[in-house]
Amino acid sequence: MGDAIVVTSGKGGVGKTTTTANIGTALAKIGKKVVLVDGDTGLRNLDVLLGLENRIIYTIIDVLENRCKLKQALVKDKKFPNNLCMLPTAQTRDKNDISKHDMEVVIGELKSYFDYVIIDCPAGIEQGFENAVVAADKALVVVNPEITSVRDSDRVIGKLDARGLDDVELIINRLNYQMTQNGEMLDVNDILDSLAIKLIGVIPDDKNITVSTNKGEPIVLDESSLSGKAFMNVAKRILGENIPIEDFSNQAEKGFLFMLKKLFGIK
Ligand code: ADP
Ligand code: MG
Repeated sequence: MGDAIVVTSGKGGVGKTTTTANIGTALAKIGKKVVLVDGDTGLRNLDVLLGLENRIIYTIIDVLENRCKLKQALVKDKKFPNNLCMLPTAQTRDKNDISKHDMEVVIGELKSYFDYVIIDCPAGIEQGFENAVVAADKALVVVNPEITSVRDSDRVIGKLDARGLDDVELIINRLNYQMTQNGEMLDVNDILDSLAIKLIGVIPDDKNITVSTNKGEPIVLDESSLSGKAFMNVAKRILGENIPIEDFSNQAEKGFLFMLKKLFGIK
């Protein structure tokens, strides 16, 4: 039996779908069998991030309404067709069209075929959230270094705890080291002080992620990319490898403004 991992956050736009696509692709690249489940019914975009939007024939709703078998609804990835699949959801339906029981059945069946079932959770803490977390064995909470995101994550961590999900780890996404140095952004320790859960990864803010999203090719496929490597390391930590959390301070030092400031002794 595989493991089901939900990627959640409370707040929208923090990088849940980006994280789902990249960690899934990373695990597939390492050789694991992975299925990504789009839990954002009505606002799906996992398919776009993977470049699979033109290959969707059936969705989870078709499975639940008996128009196809579960395996028929799975869409194979372009890069790793033998290891990576996506279960799409419907754009024209509502999160309330799926029940917690439906999700338990579907995720349970997927766990028997795949090593990892990764569920992309929608924003909010309503039905879509409940559906995404109900069958999860583990949760990855994605947070941005902003007070509003930290507060929403705190709320979500409380909800996960109330549901008895105790394997919960944190991903800090969009860290801008220079801004944290200038005191303009929360740093890793500020966030860890507020959210008392284990850190599994820090992903830098990287404009190339926008480019990769538009191309439908997760950044983790680019081995020279810093954010891609950071996502790959999260995947390896999920597999139990002991890789220290990256220190991005030397990257920021390469910044022109940082060098100028250093030269003139400005803090
Ligand atoms: P969510 O699923 O939580 O709503 P998305 O994964 O759709 O969030 O990401 C929201 C936006 O932020 C997207 O435009 C995405 O490209 C961008 N983004 C996500 N992570 C990063 C990052 N580390 N650096 C820069 N942009 C990012
Ligand atoms: Mg999303």
